[in-house]
Amino acid sequence: MKVTRTTTKTYEVSSGCNSKKWGMPFGRFIDIRVRNNQSVKQFESCFICGHRFSDDEIPNVVVVSSKGNRFSCDTCYEKVMRGGGRDE
Ligand SMILES: [Zn+2]
Repeated sequence: MKVTRTTTKTYEVSSGCNSKKWGMPFGRFIDIRVRNNQSVKQFESCFICGHRFSDDEIPNVVVVSSKGNRFSCDTCYEKVMRGGGRDE
């Protein structure tokens, strides 16, 4: 028989350094990582909602429990900054 299980994980997300000060557009960040042979897959979309970043968008950095730094879009970052809540 076949069994398919879907596991749901809950992560704690908190705001990282303010990447607007950091100011690097997404496309340039990816360029640098690719050039350094670093993986980019985990940074290609907002960790929270899956929004795909455009090259000139400046993503927000969030800290995700057990994963480390990830990117989030502006909308999700605002929610993280407001803090405390769960997904809506
Ligand atoms: Zn998002």
